[in-house]
Amino acid sequence: MQKLALVGLGASGLFALKELAGANVEVHVFDVGPSYDKRYACPIDQGKLTVCPPKACSYCAPGQSAGSWNDFKVILSASPVIGGRLFDLVGEKELQRNLDIVRQTILHHAPVEIPVVKPNAEDLEWIKKKATLAGMTYHYQELLHCGSDNAPAINTSILNEIVEKGPNIHFHWDTKVLSVARRAERFVVQYDRYRKPGEEQEDTFDMCVISVGRGGATWLTQQEFYKALDIHPGQVDIGVRVETSCHFTEEVDRRFYEPKLYYRSRHSNDVVRNFCSNPKGFVTPENHRDYVLVNGHSKMYEKSENNNFAVLVSKTFTRPFKDPQLYSQTIAKIANMLAGGGPLIQRLGDLRAGRRTKSLANNLIKPTLEAECGDIALAYPHRIVESIVEYLDALDKICPGIANDATLLYAPECKSYPDSISVSKNMETNVPNLFIIGDSSSWTRGVGQAATSGLLVGAGIKQKVHDDKRVPQSV
Ligand SMILES: Cc1cc2nc3c(=O)[nH]c(=O)nc-3n(C[C@H](O)[C@H](O)[C@H](O)COP(=O)(O)OP(=O)(O)OC[C@H]3O[C@@H](n4cnc5c(N)ncnc54)[C@H](O)[C@@H]3O)c2cc1C
Repeated sequence: MQKLALVGLGASGLFALKELAGANVEVHVFDVGPSYDKRYACPIDQGKLTVCPPKACSYCAPGQSAGSWNDFKVILSASPVIGGRLFDLVGEKELQRNLDIVRQTILHHAPVEIPVVKPNAEDLEWIKKKATLAGMTYHYQELLHCGSDNAPAINTSILNEIVEKGPNIHFHWDTKVLSVARRAERFVVQYDRYRKPGEEQEDTFDMCVISVGRGGATWLTQQEFYKALDIHPGQVDIGVRVETSCHFTEEVDRRFYEPKLYYRSRHSNDVVRNFCSNPKGFVTPENHRDYVLVNGHSKMYEKSENNNFAVLVSKTFTRPFKDPQLYSQTIAKIANMLAGGGPLIQRLGDLRAGRRTKSLANNLIKPTLEAECGDIALAYPHRIVESIVEYLDALDKICPGIANDATLLYAPECKSYPDSISVSKNMETNVPNLFIIGDSSSWTRGVGQAATSGLLVGAGIKQKVHDDKRVPQSV
C-alpha cells in the first residue's frame, strides 16, 4: 500500500480524510493540536481568563484551525469572488457539487438543527436596489452559521466517523512537522512532539498533502521544495473590525445574516468589502505570538446587543516588492505598539475628526472587547483609512445609522494570504505527488472552500492510487 503524509488537520485536512477513509492508501496525519475531543472552548468565554494569554492561543490563532472552531460560518455558494478562488480552478458546477457535500456533512453531524441562510426573491430585489443606490455591488451567498458553541461537537463527530471507516488512517496529534523534503521521488517528513519537543523522528512517504492553513504559510516558504513550485505573490487585506448597534443592521441581518457588499473606493480605486458579520456577537482578539489582531464571533445561544463585522481593503503588490505578509504584519505591529501591545479602539466620529478617542464612557455603543482607546490614523496609511470611511458612508444608505459617530472601529484587522501556488484540479502542484490544499495554497479563504479543496484532493488521490502505476511502492 502506498503511504501518504497529511500535514495539518484543519478544515481542508478533515474533508480530505473524509474522502480517504477506507481507501487503498496508508495515511499518516500530523497536527500540532491535541486530538479533537481534547480541544477546549475559549477560556475567556468559559470565564477562566479575562484577557488573552501572552502566547498565541490555540482557540483563535489561525495555526490551529480557527474558523472551524471559532464562529464556524460556512459559505455554501459557488462564487467567483467569495470564500476563495476554486471557482476559477474547477468551475462553478464542480465547486457547487462539493460545497453541497460540505453542507450535508456539517448538517448531518450537527447536534442541533442549523438553518441554512438563503435569501428569497424579495430579499434579492431589495438588496440589489439598495446596493445600487449606495454604489455597492451585492454578491449572492447561502450560508450556515454553526456558532462557536456547536463547533467542537460537529468536528468531533465528523472525525469519529472517519476513524470508524478508516483503519488505514494513523493520527499523530500534538506533533509538529519540522520539515518535508524530497528524496528521489518520495518525501521525507521530520516531526517532533509540539508541546514537549525532543523526540525528533522521520518517515518516508510516496505522497504528501500540505494543509497547514494561513498559520503555516511561513513554514511552507521555508521548505526545500518551495523554490520548485510555480508561485505568484498573494494579496493582503487591511481593515478594521466595526462594532455597532444591532438595531442599525437588523433588517439586513434578518434577511441575509451577512450580505456580501463590495465597493470601489472613489479616491484610490481599491476594492473594499465587508467580511465575517456577527449579528449579536462579540469582538475577540486573535492572538499571534508577536502581534494581536482583532476578529469576531457569535454564538447560537449567548447574544450581545451589538453587531460586528470587518471592513477590509484589498491590496496586491507588483515588483520589486515581494512580501505582502510582512507589510500587513508591520502595520499590525504599529497599531499594537500604539495600544501598548493589544488592539486599538476608536469612535468613527473621532477618526473622521482627525483626533484620538480618549474615553468610551458615554458612548452610545458599548464595546464587547476591552481595547485601548487611540487613533487608527497614526498606524494605517491614509488611503486605507479613507477607503474604510467611504465604505461605511456607502453602507449607511443600506443600514441607516451605521456611520454614526458612536460606531466603534477596532484595529488591526489584517488578513494576509500565502503566495498563490499553481495546482491541478485535484490540487497537485508541479512537484509530482505533492498536493497543497486549503488556505496554505491561497486558493481558499474560508471553511467552505477549504473543505472543498480537501474533497478534491481526496478524490484525486484515490483516483491516482487506482490508476497511476508509476508511483513507487513503499517498502
Ligand atoms: C479567528 C478566526 C475566525 C475565522 N472564522 C471563520 C468563519 O467563521 N468562517 C470561515 O469560513 N472562515 C473563518 N476563518 C478562516 C478559516 O479559519 C480558514 O479559512 C480555514 O480554517 C482554512 O482551513 P485550512 O485547512 O486551510 O487551515 P486551518 O483550518 O488553519 O488548519 C491548519 C492546520 O494545520 C496545523 N498545522 C499548521 N502547521 C503545522 C505543522 N508544521 N505541523 C503540524 N500541523 C500543522 C494547524 O494546527 C491546523 O490544525 C477564520 C479564521 C480565524 C483566524
